Amino acid sequence: MTHHETCRTDIPKMMEISKVVQEGKGQKSFFFNHHMDCKPGQFVMVWLPDVDEKPMAVSYQSKKEFAFTSQSIGKFTNEIDKLKKNSKIGIRGPYGNSFSIKNNACVVAGGVGLSSLSTLIDKLKNPLVIYGARSRQHLIYLKRYKSRNMTVTTDDGSFGKKGFTTDVLRESLKNNKNKIKIVYTCGPEIMMKKVFEICNKHKIQCEASLERYMACGFGICGKCMINDKICCVDGPIFNSQQLRKMHEFGSFARLKSGRKVTIKEYHSVH
Ligand SMILES: Cc1cc2nc3c(=O)[nH]c(=O)nc-3n(C[C@H](O)[C@H](O)[C@H](O)COP(=O)(O)OP(=O)(O)OC[C@H]3O[C@@H](n4cnc5c(N)ncnc54)[C@H](O)[C@@H]3O)c2cc1C
Repeated sequence: MTHHETCRTDIPKMMEISKVVQEGKGQKSFFFNHHMDCKPGQFVMVWLPDVDEKPMAVSYQSKKEFAFTSQSIGKFTNEIDKLKKNSKIGIRGPYGNSFSIKNNACVVAGGVGLSSLSTLIDKLKNPLVIYGARSRQHLIYLKRYKSRNMTVTTDDGSFGKKGFTTDVLRESLKNNKNKIKIVYTCGPEIMMKKVFEICNKHKIQCEASLERYMACGFGICGKCMINDKICCVDGPIFNSQQLRKMHEFGSFARLKSGRKVTIKEYHSVH
């Protein structure tokens, strides 16, 4: 494949990493000199031969390049972390649906969830961004979004406001000075559930990008089912009407075996 060629494939294409950017503690962006024809919120399957293949959101996108941003939390992401410029890895996709793009938007991101929302933020007209992480060292893209209308929160108060993104959202919607009409969110499910509930209370539309165990990325394996929805093809983005009917949202997820467990157990098993 020549540089800058459009990429869309269901078979992993080996691509050379053109640049690695340290974004935060254990968080790195991996760039490729290829155009990825995708919409905000879509993801790719990243294949590391002899290790595994996992979903990652497209976090930077331009005519010339794209990137994903990985946070080291386990076997796969720890191996990804070791990759350097010129290393080759397999990429297939893009997959999944995308966020709608509406004005008067608020974006609520938790942790590395900001990577799924970043190409959306790039396309929105002056959204209010509320972004939270555990502490200062876990914050990403601060330089990238320094000219944006962004409120940052940290759980420990080491940067921005001490507290949660949902506290800021609650305050913002109380008087709704910004005339927010839609809230886009991605992050820990407990946070997204709260965001959804706050939006419901104010009768404001919400779109959430949900995370479930994905193996194929295109609706064959069924591991990522949430109620009757296949997260990788019907989602990962679901709107308020859909979320209202998804009783498993915020409560249950499936292990890679397909077994349904509580969200708490799901996160403790891997
Ligand atoms: C649509 C989508 C987009 C994502 N985008 C990003 C991103 O931009 N950056 C990023 O750092 N992470 C992203 N993730 C999560 C990422 O796939 C997991 O962090 C990664 O698979 C962890 O693997 P591990 O072996 O390092 O950790 P493990 O110890 O195996 O797992 C740690 C946690 O990661 C999640 N996870 C593990 N395997 C999978 C899988 N196959 N599919 C989905 N979730 C899994 C589970 O919540 C698990 O508890 C995304 C997930 C989805 C579904």
